[in-house]
Amino acid sequence: MREITIVGGGIIGCSTAYWLTRHPSYSPGTHRITLLEASSTNTGGRTQDSIKDPSTLADPATASKRNPAHDGIAGGASGKAGGLLALWAFPQSIVPLSFRLHDELAREHDGARRWGYRRCWASQIDCKARLPPGIDGGASVQPSSADGEHAGASKGLHKDHKKAAAELRKLGVPDDLDWVDTADSLRAYDNIGTPDNTAQVHPELFTRSMAQLAEDAGVRIVIGARVTAINRSSDESQVESVTYKKDGEEITHPTNHCVVAAGPWTRLLLPEIPVSASRAHSVVIKSPRAISAYALFTAIKLPVGFRTPVPKTAQNGAIKAAPLSGQQVVEPEIYARPDGTAYACGPTDDAPLPLSTAEVEVDEARCEDIIAQVGGISDELGRDGEVLARQACFLPQGGPYIGQVGSTKGLIVAAGHTCWGIQNAPGTGKLVSEIVFDGKAKSAKLGGCDPANVL
Ligand SMILES: Cc1cc2nc3c(=O)[nH]c(=O)nc-3n(C[C@H](O)[C@H](O)[C@H](O)COP(=O)(O)OP(=O)(O)OC[C@H]3O[C@@H](n4cnc5c(N)ncnc54)[C@H](O)[C@@H]3O)c2cc1C
Repeated sequence: MREITIVGGGIIGCSTAYWLTRHPSYSPGTHRITLLEASSTNTGGRTQDSIKDPSTLADPATASKRNPAHDGIAGGASGKAGGLLALWAFPQSIVPLSFRLHDELAREHDGARRWGYRRCWASQIDCKARLPPGIDGGASVQPSSADGEHAGASKGLHKDHKKAAAELRKLGVPDDLDWVDTADSLRAYDNIGTPDNTAQVHPELFTRSMAQLAEDAGVRIVIGARVTAINRSSDESQVESVTYKKDGEEITHPTNHCVVAAGPWTRLLLPEIPVSASRAHSVVIKSPRAISAYALFTAIKLPVGFRTPVPKTAQNGAIKAAPLSGQQVVEPEIYARPDGTAYACGPTDDAPLPLSTAEVEVDEARCEDIIAQVGGISDELGRDGEVLARQACFLPQGGPYIGQVGSTKGLIVAAGHTCWGIQNAPGTGKLVSEIVFDGKAKSAKLGGCDPANVL
């Protein structure tokens, strides 16, 4: 019996569990796979009035309905991301494989119903937000500088793909993008992705579905199990066991392979893997009518008198929203979803990483910023929308790293997936399954993702 242990029940750990069970060499008679997830709740990083069960929004009749035995799975970024998939994402060494696998998974497991898979458009828009009714944009607030521009523009998550505002051409807005105020707000529009090369999933439903499918194929999922040590042989040539805490008890679990997929927490277990973490806030808003399938990368100019965004370095609750005294540009990303909701996320901030997903705190003022900015360009998501979730999570940065750690056989990292971890999860899981069973990645060249090539 060979033991394979996965640390972390985010999208990377759950996709790895799934693909290990799909490898031709896997047999439940000869391999025992255990997935250890530190948290046993998904309420961390969400305000109390937020939706508790995202599957109620999608299709309650399907198997995607929440399995309470899996609470804690997708409790971090994997449950609170946008869910955009794109052939134009990065790193290009693994993107095409992963984009194709997303499509195949959706076909095989009815992903359209089960986790909201669909093809979509991606666009970049430049807008000017309208002031909410009753707010005076000029008379009582004086611009702080000669041109009225505020110094600190805040950046969105996918900014590497954005064109400079000056390069944006006004191409004509598609007719079905009718939930953005094109008359008063929109200044420029350009296409980034089409349904040929762009798609989306609901990340929490996708991750929990991967966990369920892996469990159905023999994986043991243990929630509330925080790994505190990965134990190597004295000469560090082989991984031997992992130690984890569950219900106050310390358990040492012997293992032949250990896949560390602990996202932003990876460095606590593997200090040699430089994954860093930044908190980001997001909201989910229900529109009163269906909204067309667009992911929007925005640059929104906030006028004088608009709610001042909380600065990146401010501590939770330290800032009381005051009217802007100069214009400021913000870049929330807005993703329409097939269940009639839109997801929108804001910039990262400097909050320190807590010990687990259950302890992530939401700064409600940062959520209110996103709600006000999105409402400033869309009545469907502003005046007429209903806010269903206010949430925060930690974005893992620095990688992705996929491959053996140093010279320790059996010790594999799969972490640091930046703002494209949802897109790159199936590819990562498949590549890790090949590293475990075949000794090397076969479906794609790891290139700069392999720690051996870059660290
Ligand atoms: C606001 C936002 C929007 C995003 N939008 C997109 C998008 O549209 N498209 C896209 O492709 N990507 C997106 N991403 C990125 C994506 O969410 C992440 O790259 C991805 O979720 C990372 O998955 P993970 O499994 O590595 O980490 P996580 O989701 O953080 O999961 C790690 C898990 O490991 C567990 N863990 C940690 N330490 C231990 C331990 N010691 N023992 C046991 N378990 C442990 C944690 O509890 C957690 O559940 C977005 C990210 C953010 C923040």
